[in-house]
Amino acid sequence: MNNGLVIRLIAGEYKVFDLDTLNIINCKPRGVMRIKSSAPKVGDYVSYTLIDDKNGIIENIKPRINDLIRPYIANIDQAFVIFSVKEPELNLNLLDKFLVTLEFNNITPIIIFNKWDLLNEQEQKEVNEVIKYYESIGYKTIITSATHNIYNDLKEYLPNKVSVFTGQSGVGKSSLLNMLDTKLSLDTNEISMALGRGKHTTRHTELLSVESGWVADTPGFGTLDFEGMEKSDLAQNFVEFFAASSNCKYNGCLHINEPNCKVKELVGNNSILNSRYTNYLTFINDLGKDKKDYDSSPINSNSKRRRKK
Ligand code: GDP
Ligand code: ZN
Repeated sequence: MNNGLVIRLIAGEYKVFDLDTLNIINCKPRGVMRIKSSAPKVGDYVSYTLIDDKNGIIENIKPRINDLIRPYIANIDQAFVIFSVKEPELNLNLLDKFLVTLEFNNITPIIIFNKWDLLNEQEQKEVNEVIKYYESIGYKTIITSATHNIYNDLKEYLPNKVSVFTGQSGVGKSSLLNMLDTKLSLDTNEISMALGRGKHTTRHTELLSVESGWVADTPGFGTLDFEGMEKSDLAQNFVEFFAASSNCKYNGCLHINEPNCKVKELVGNNSILNSRYTNYLTFINDLGKDKKDYDSSPINSNSKRRRKK
């Protein structure tokens, strides 16, 4: 049996990247896996048998570490969440929303602060304080300027991982990907589609080879909502709140009105960034407000485990 990664699915035909030979094999799934609900999807690690040197049969799907509906993809290792520090302004509410949603879905976030060139020295200092805070609670951050070809260690995160680039429109996603675009393994038409403005709504998700890793060809998560999340999931996936919660008086403290709450104490003495707490309260309040039907939710997951650190 051979091991592969599903990198593309079009009309029941799978392209499987063999993890040992690095060949790309055209595959069809065996038997029960032809039923959509149990079918392999892009991002799946599979075992397959060869029919000849170009074609094979998918025999098994390995358990998924996460499983999203929108984008329709499995096993994302990491998401680059891209923010501009100006034009548009840095939006910490959206950043916290991305972080908590990604944590909930077992996807490691890496925060990119783009358009650094637009800040004067004083503004850079201010944003650096914010960056320091997010690093102190465990997040990797990267300062970039796509127009000035500054990307620090961004490329070092790509090898051997499946990544998604996501963020509001206008923050510089395409510019950053174009900057990284050195030797994408697919033909140029596909590259320009993938790296373009993301208006190709009818296309299937596909993994592109970038810097010996994989980047999902998808405009990202669009608008996020908290599909499938309860208040306690918010509390558990604000990572520094979760860390502090063992010192809250009540088990399952939501850090709202409970007495002897460690999180509120840390907010009070500025150990927790104030905007983290106010955003948390906003999200708690928003939960359940905008319950949408399953189909209109941009992100969904079967995996409710917290990532083990
Ligand atoms: P996307 O919608 O996220 O893909 O954003 P784009 O890559 O299309 O960028 C939106 C606009 O911001 C374009 O006019 C870019 O030239 C500009 N832009 C992107 N990155 C930078 C940057 O680092 N600095 C500056 N000054 N402008 C940038
Ligand atoms: Zn508490």
